[in-house]
Amino acid sequence: MKRNTWQREAVRSALGTQMGFVSAQDLHSNLKGTGSQIGLATVYRALGDLATEGEADSLQSPEGESLYRACSTGHHHHLICRGCGLAVEIEADDVEQWAKNVAALHGFSQAEHVVDVFGYCSACVPAVG
Ligand SMILES: [Zn+2]
Ligand SMILES: [Zn+2]
Ligand SMILES: [Zn+2]
Repeated sequence: MKRNTWQREAVRSALGTQMGFVSAQDLHSNLKGTGSQIGLATVYRALGDLATEGEADSLQSPEGESLYRACSTGHHHHLICRGCGLAVEIEADDVEQWAKNVAALHGFSQAEHVVDVFGYCSACVPAVG
């Protein structure tokens, strides 16, 4: 059954205004800031639904937190800033080829992969020393 509630629409449009990947908590406080009465559990569920249906990208941060973004559809990779959450969509033909080859080498078919690169963008380079 499809849950097409106002909460879900609110989460979808809030996600669309984000520059980069955000956690459910971040998006929740964002929505609260606009006067929404939405609950955190509802935000979690709506984000999960959107990700399942391919309307949002989800990934795990190095800290193990689930992050979401309204992304372009189709297979792609990300460069993500650990400072500000900025996300750049990248194509990685080398990775596609390598993944296909290494899977075939081991007799795997229908292999899928997730490759996201975390670092600091030029605006967020941590102070050295
Ligand atoms: Zn993406
Ligand atoms: Zn940054
Ligand atoms: Zn790929």
